[in-house]
Amino acid sequence: MDLTTPISKLSYVGSSYQKRLENLGIKTVGELLFHFPHRYEDFSKISPVSSIRTKGKYTAIGEITKIEAGKTPRQMMPFTRATLQDNTGEIDVVWFKQPYLAKSLEEGEKIFVSGDVSYFKDGWQFLSPSYEKIKGRKAFPTHTARIIPIYPSTEGVSSRFLRFLLKPILKNVDLLIYETLPEKIIKEKDLLPIAEALQQIHFPKSQKEIEKARKRLSFERIFLLQILLLKKKMAMARETAIPVPINLEEIQDLTGNLPFSLTNAQKKAAWQILQDMKKESPMNRLLEGDVGSGKTIVAFIAALAAIKAGYQVAFMAPTEVLSRQHFDEAAKTLWRFKIDVGLLTGKKDKLRSKKLKGDTVEISREKLIKKCKEGELNLLVGTHALIQETVKFKNLALVILDEQHRFGTKQRSKLCLKDKYRIPHLLSMSATPIPRTLALTVYGELDLSVINEMPKERKKIKTSIVSPKKREETYSFIKEEVKKGRQAFFICPRIEEAKDKNSALAELKAVEEEKERLASLVFPEFKVEMLHGKMKTSEKEDIMKRFQRKKIDILVSTSVIEVGVDIRNAGIMVIEGAERFGLAQLHQVRGRVGRGEFQSYCFLFPTSPSEKTKQRLRALLSSENGFELAEKDLELRGPGDFVGKRQWGMPDFTMDVLKDWEQVEEAREAAKEILSEDSELKKYPLLKKRISNLEKKLHLE
Ligand code: ADP
Ligand code: MG
Repeated sequence: MDLTTPISKLSYVGSSYQKRLENLGIKTVGELLFHFPHRYEDFSKISPVSSIRTKGKYTAIGEITKIEAGKTPRQMMPFTRATLQDNTGEIDVVWFKQPYLAKSLEEGEKIFVSGDVSYFKDGWQFLSPSYEKIKGRKAFPTHTARIIPIYPSTEGVSSRFLRFLLKPILKNVDLLIYETLPEKIIKEKDLLPIAEALQQIHFPKSQKEIEKARKRLSFERIFLLQILLLKKKMAMARETAIPVPINLEEIQDLTGNLPFSLTNAQKKAAWQILQDMKKESPMNRLLEGDVGSGKTIVAFIAALAAIKAGYQVAFMAPTEVLSRQHFDEAAKTLWRFKIDVGLLTGKKDKLRSKKLKGDTVEISREKLIKKCKEGELNLLVGTHALIQETVKFKNLALVILDEQHRFGTKQRSKLCLKDKYRIPHLLSMSATPIPRTLALTVYGELDLSVINEMPKERKKIKTSIVSPKKREETYSFIKEEVKKGRQAFFICPRIEEAKDKNSALAELKAVEEEKERLASLVFPEFKVEMLHGKMKTSEKEDIMKRFQRKKIDILVSTSVIEVGVDIRNAGIMVIEGAERFGLAQLHQVRGRVGRGEFQSYCFLFPTSPSEKTKQRLRALLSSENGFELAEKDLELRGPGDFVGKRQWGMPDFTMDVLKDWEQVEEAREAAKEILSEDSELKKYPLLKKRISNLEKKLHLE
């Protein structure tokens, strides 16, 4: 047997258990070993039965003096009842729905029981406890009288069964598994060797053992991930890109003629980007900044540098509306530099060209693509249409991706492979604030620039938590605002269980009902429309366009409203079921308003305004910094809001480490150190193998 042995080779794993285990992602002995308990129950203390006189969890050891099967009088539920005796007295043990126990246990047998004790009419009794027969003179219980591991989401595989499978394998686990962490790191960080860590995570003898095992295993997981990310980063650095020289005069010509001056954070980010683009290896940088922090102009600075050096730039955004907005903005902002800008979406393609004296005209797709291929076009803005085979560039030096999380890795790399010999510099942009630790994990192969400062002129959005009593009053206020010409968003609550297929439908229903309610009962005099994830892209875009043109007063939506679209006239944001959102997400949603010169408002309607929810939501009243709020989310709600657990395949206790900046940083530093002395991991073949396995696994998901 080794780690790759299929679980079907284990005795007791028949075809039905094999399937169920596979559903949990367990196909091999190795995967079984790395399926960790998510919690434990401490049944290590053995109580004399006469001392069990309060409700609670207990372990007892004794002899069965009586055992019988029966059925409850009314519901006819089968049960087994036994009497357990030790040298202090007797106690009853009842197992419901397990009548067969009466056959497998016998009078006179010695057993352990661990479980809940309650008082019933005829005395104290154990209720469906775990039990184990004591064989021979030495007893090493697996399911009772110790700290018992409990495994997550079992789908027909009980923790008892997993313990049963794992115990014999763990006995000789040191022969099965090899140490992959470099010796030096184990010593330096005082980590458990892998075999011990596995034994202790599954069958710990004490709380301390659990902690040490978790420390080792989570360090390892994050260390492996960091090696993977850093290797990717190093591989990228070995590629060739077009070096773009910095021409400060031209850049000042752009920034000096804007209707505003750049914030310091914008300047710093632009500088970092320009420094990267000067290099002969491709930039791979993420520009993060709150909604409205002004990322677009920073991207335009980078674009101008590349264009002025004689190269082309591609600018991809996830939706048509957003692409059009960027096209208009680019055509306007960069017009003074006499450049040709094209817009390529699924629909009307456009061109603004110096030959046409700055008029924007419609152009056929073929013509636009031809211009791009021949290098006549300096900047091509568009949607996914940009990654089609037919779109070719003559000398693409820079790719800009707006709202990068909306694109898959494949789409990103497709756009970057338009040139066979050189890789364009890549600037990704995201408005999703993410805490530092997670940025290193989720975007570990990227360099990071952060705009953590908002343009000064922006008016603060007045945010309030509205109690149910004030609902009507708030509606009247909104009515007045809409009468004044403002527009409003109503966001419907998120339905928690993301895995649940019905939740999307439930969300949809919530949006439809809310729209009906608002349109007929609350705001009959206004035009109310809705937007949700189940609509076709074209329908969504159509609604957004009409909203932008003020053809709609009130838009009811799920939280998926188009990111980044600038609706300057929207002044009201109502969020129903606000407590179901993370703070950072609420902040992002709130950021859809407050883009114009008038005062904007955000009303949070919690479903159940308990003191605790209010307290959490209050953070939004005092903070306007997405990063600050994201850190708070991490502290209060854990990393789940940011990192999909499935995506990274991490157990909960490893996810928890992501809260701890020092631990992540330590793992990253350790990974850097190993790679710096041995970038190909020649000295660490086992480590290398695990990294490539991990890579395969993460790619599959
Ligand atoms: P986001 O980071 O969300 O993409 P945008 O780039 O769309 O933000 O900028 C939002 C608005 O702020 C735009 O209208 C832009 O012209 C404006 N803006 C950008 N930078 C500044 C600044 N330094 N001062 C004032 N307004 C700015
Ligand atoms: Mg934007």
